[in-house]
Amino acid sequence: MTPAELLAFDRAHLWHPYSSISAPGRVYPVESAAGVRLRLWRESAGARADGSYVEVIDAMSSWWAAVHGYAVPELDAAAADQLGRMSHVMFGGLTHEPAARLAQQLLDRIGLDQVFFADSGSVAVEVAMKMAWQAHAAGGLTRTKFFTLRGGYHGDTFSPMSVTDPDGGMHSLYAGLVPEHVFAPQPPDRWFLKDDAPEMQTWETETTRLFEKHAHEIAAVIVEPVLQGAGGMRSYHPHALDVLTRLARAHGALVIHDEIATGFWRTGKPFGRDHAPGQAADGPDIVCVGKALTGGYLSLAAVLCSSQVAERVSSSPAGAMMHGPTFMANPLACAVASASLDLLDASGPELQLPRISDALEHGLANAWDLSSVHAVRVLGATGVIELAGPVDVQRVTEVALDHGVWVRPFRNLVYTMPPFVTTDEDLATITGAMIAAVEEVHG
Ligand SMILES: *Cc1c(COP(=O)(O)O)cnc(C)c1O
Repeated sequence: MTPAELLAFDRAHLWHPYSSISAPGRVYPVESAAGVRLRLWRESAGARADGSYVEVIDAMSSWWAAVHGYAVPELDAAAADQLGRMSHVMFGGLTHEPAARLAQQLLDRIGLDQVFFADSGSVAVEVAMKMAWQAHAAGGLTRTKFFTLRGGYHGDTFSPMSVTDPDGGMHSLYAGLVPEHVFAPQPPDRWFLKDDAPEMQTWETETTRLFEKHAHEIAAVIVEPVLQGAGGMRSYHPHALDVLTRLARAHGALVIHDEIATGFWRTGKPFGRDHAPGQAADGPDIVCVGKALTGGYLSLAAVLCSSQVAERVSSSPAGAMMHGPTFMANPLACAVASASLDLLDASGPELQLPRISDALEHGLANAWDLSSVHAVRVLGATGVIELAGPVDVQRVTEVALDHGVWVRPFRNLVYTMPPFVTTDEDLATITGAMIAAVEEVHG
């Protein structure tokens, strides 16, 4: 298939994320990827059949998953080794070492007691919400609401969608199908504020009042700790996490941390929750991980819970945790994820993350000078340029590619979540391309 044939087929038959078949956005054929570079096809201006392959830096880590980049020898070896034994067996009635090994690694890093493997982040959130529901059902309670923050994102299936931001999310598109939960305002994002600063106090008072009003029906608090990802790439004050935990504890609700985006060092610490001092002593009951967990190779996510939650779920009327995906604990995905976590530890993330963070901070500073820019934010290995208005995705993408960088902006955000192995030189190219693209397209 030539790139032109591929593009023609794609245009006729393939859905892409959040895409229209009648007015599709441009897509670029990728032939291969290695290190932090994608080899992708760009058409020459004006000539559809004509073009060439170019190598560009992936500033997105393939939606935040490929933290070690591509064609990683250690991960390739883990996949090949596991492929030689078995790529998959069902998890109903069978078990295997790749699942046990990965579960142990997760328990060592996250704490808690039981691990449920899911096949994607959205499914992990579904499972976490079902767990919370079932845990209350064990005590004869019907708690049908979840308490969360505005501006969040938890996935695209119905339950995760229902706790995703009601305005930025898809609630109105599916009105009537999406259950209504309780949304607290976004906490302040200025981390230098003291916990008792007026802004923090106002947020805490409002949130407490809202929680108390619904306390009897709230099954769990569900939040992305400290950084809201796909909901708008906005971080919030870590104290808010402690406040939410305290409210949940006081009213018999559980605490679910969705660390699918924030887990495994993306925010500069092992987990997003590690920014909030209170979470060390009084952590979550349920944690979801995905994305970086996989090393970017094969779809996998996991839900961890405390033995107390597990016991409650198991003594609920159903008598079991009522979920079981066909590809649960896929051995190939587990083996690669295991190798990825080992590699992450060995890479010295406590040194790499500050390096990346400094490079992003330094590289994006000049974006403040652009008239179209509303804000610039860096947290860990996440760098965001927020525009005052919507991004022209097509044109910004093209200009960034001209500068050798793949970005995928959304709404009013041009951002990077680069692989952790990205060199300082490549990070400078990424930030330079982001600024150049914003300036050229939006001024
Ligand atoms: C991406 C994401 C999800 C959904 O994960 P999928 O694997 O895309 O289903 C859920 N929660 C958060 C915080 C995410 O960033």
